[in-house]
Amino acid sequence: MKTLNDFNFDNKKALIRVDFNVPLNDKFEVTDTTRIVSAKPTIIKILEDGGSCILMSHLGRPKGVQEEFSLKHIVSKVSEIIGVEVQFVSSCVGEEAEKAAANLQPGQILLLENLRFHEEEKKGDEGFAEALSKLGDIYVNDAFGTAHRAHASTTIVVQFFNDKKCFGALLAKEIESIKKVMETGEKPVLAVLGGAKVSSKITIIENILDKVDHIIIGGGMTFTFIKALGGQIGDSICEDDKMELALDILKQAEAKNVKIHLPVDVIAANSFSNDAETQVVNVNAIPEGWQGLDCGPKSITLAHEVVNTCKTILWNGPLGVFEMESFAKGTIELGNSISEATKNGAFSLVGGGDSVAAVKQFGFQDKVSYVSTGGGAMLESLEGRTLPGIAAILE
Ligand code: AMP
Repeated sequence: MKTLNDFNFDNKKALIRVDFNVPLNDKFEVTDTTRIVSAKPTIIKILEDGGSCILMSHLGRPKGVQEEFSLKHIVSKVSEIIGVEVQFVSSCVGEEAEKAAANLQPGQILLLENLRFHEEEKKGDEGFAEALSKLGDIYVNDAFGTAHRAHASTTIVVQFFNDKKCFGALLAKEIESIKKVMETGEKPVLAVLGGAKVSSKITIIENILDKVDHIIIGGGMTFTFIKALGGQIGDSICEDDKMELALDILKQAEAKNVKIHLPVDVIAANSFSNDAETQVVNVNAIPEGWQGLDCGPKSITLAHEVVNTCKTILWNGPLGVFEMESFAKGTIELGNSISEATKNGAFSLVGGGDSVAAVKQFGFQDKVSYVSTGGGAMLESLEGRTLPGIAAILE
């Protein structure tokens, strides 16, 4: 696996695919700088080597050229975070971009305009990829968030660099973290899977059954399992067409000696609202008209015990409707348990979709070992797929 340390960037121009797809408010100010901060170590290493950086990214989902999706809005924020005045060019291929890249001196940074102003980017167009490749000497991929897409800048461009290609520091860290959970993690290994639906997590569950010792299931997914096992779930969400699959997963887990922990009690509510009336009930006996929206106190204690016996922990998906304060406790307590286990030496990875939002909202990001920067890319990695952006560098 080639990383930044395999190259000396002295006098070289690095063409770096970063993920600067950051949220902007209506004044076009960056409201969450995580992705820019995450790219900093790669940029600094290249500058310190005596190289220059040409940064390329997408922003949002523009249809053709749309001013509101211009990366010019983030230039001052990137300059501030990196500590170097960033130059901007209002194109990403062609004469103007080539001239700006050619004029770039060691120690300088150039940000290209939004790649997705060209439909060729998402199509993975070879001609467009070749035009991008003209801008730099060494290709660096540091965009985990788009590594699952075979786009021109993430995958197709790589073929024009022969062996002058590597992972940036962020992408390397993402790959190592996944490997630590899925391949080399110290046992016992635990996966906590929450979120809304079994259907969106099914491939992950099947893939990790060979890799983990324990699975804690929580969130809305719980009720498909409980109903399939004959429990009364009241009005809780359930995918009836996935009940057989749920039973099959339980069977497979038993055969593979993987212990599945389902909640034993829930906070049931009489409506899907923060102000609903609530009661703690046995997970198998939720009355009609009531729905389980968070795990109950006994389940929290049980989860805590499991978490604290494990040395490697993967967390994907909230244990309840954490967006509503009344149903956030299970998710917060799980975060506390994982933080404690991490403090005691466990490796913990949080990734994929809403668990990252929950971890940030409740301030756990510095208390776990690693928080992934890629939602979809993380989910696909956990499903056992090789991401095209990663494969292209490894080839
Ligand atoms: P996912 O994107 O699959 O990780 O799902 C996350 C969503 O699941 C969050 O928006 C939660 O509000 C939701 N969720 C968690 N637990 C429940 C539940 N018991 N009932 C309904 N939705 C839930």
